[in-house]
Amino acid sequence: MIELRTPAEIEAMRPAGRFVAEVLATLRDEVRVGTNLLAIDKRAHEMIRKAGAQSCYIDYHPSFGASPFGKVICTSVNDAVLHGLPHSYALRDGDLLTLDFAVSVDGWVADSAISFVVGTPRDEDLALIDTTERALDAAIAAATIGNRLGDISAAIAEVAHADGLSINTDFGGHGVGRTMHGDPHVPNNGRPGRGYPLKAGLVVALEPWFLQSTDKLITDKDGWTLRSADGSRGAHTEHTIAVTEDGPIVLTDRAFLGVK
Ligand code: MG
Repeated sequence: MIELRTPAEIEAMRPAGRFVAEVLATLRDEVRVGTNLLAIDKRAHEMIRKAGAQSCYIDYHPSFGASPFGKVICTSVNDAVLHGLPHSYALRDGDLLTLDFAVSVDGWVADSAISFVVGTPRDEDLALIDTTERALDAAIAAATIGNRLGDISAAIAEVAHADGLSINTDFGGHGVGRTMHGDPHVPNNGRPGRGYPLKAGLVVALEPWFLQSTDKLITDKDGWTLRSADGSRGAHTEHTIAVTEDGPIVLTDRAFLGVK
C-alpha cells in the first residue's frame, strides 16, 4: 500500500534526510587510500550514536539476506554495487566506492547513496558515476504531480541507454516512511505515462545503479554483497525525495553543506 505524507510529516522527515546527507558527505571527505571498510562502518556508527539516530541496516534481515546485516552502512567496492557488507579491506588507489546509508531520526527514515573514487580515478569510472548522477537528476525532475511512476523509471532508463548501459530492474527505488522499504517499487526502467499517478505526499528513494558492461549480478559468499557477473565496475546514486505541490523536495540533499 502506498502511503502519502502530509506537508507536516514531510517537514518532520527533514532531520533524517539532513543527518544522512551529513554522514555521507563526512565519510566521503574522510575516506583515503588505506581506509578500512570496517573503519568506515565504525565511524558511521559513532555518528549514529551521537545523533541518537537508529540504523535501518544493523538488524535488517530480509528474505534474501543470509543473516541480519550487522553493520550500519553498505560499502560496495569496484565490481560490488549493492548491499556491500563491510569487511576488513583497506581501500586501494583508484577503488570505486559506493556508500549506501539509511537511518531513522524521530521515527522517520531517510536513505541515500553516493559513489566516488578513492585516490586516482579512471576516466571510465568517473563516466559511470556521472551517468548514475544524471539519471538521478532526471528521475527527480520527473517526480512531479501529473506524471506517473513510469515517467520516473523511463527518465532513468533514457540516461542509461544513451550511454549504452543495460539495466537490471531486480533492485530499484522504494517508498520511504516509518520503515526503509515500502511501496511503491520504482524500477530503473519503465514506460512513460504508465503506472501509479504521482501525488503530493509520495516519499520515495530513487536509486539508479548501473554496471559498466552487464546487467547480471552475483551474490558473494557473505550472502549480501552483490557484484557484477562479469567483474565490471558499478556505481549507485540515491536520494530520498518527496513529491509536493511545489515540485520535488530532495530530503537527503547535501547542498546545505555546500557540497554536491
Ligand atoms: Mg539506500
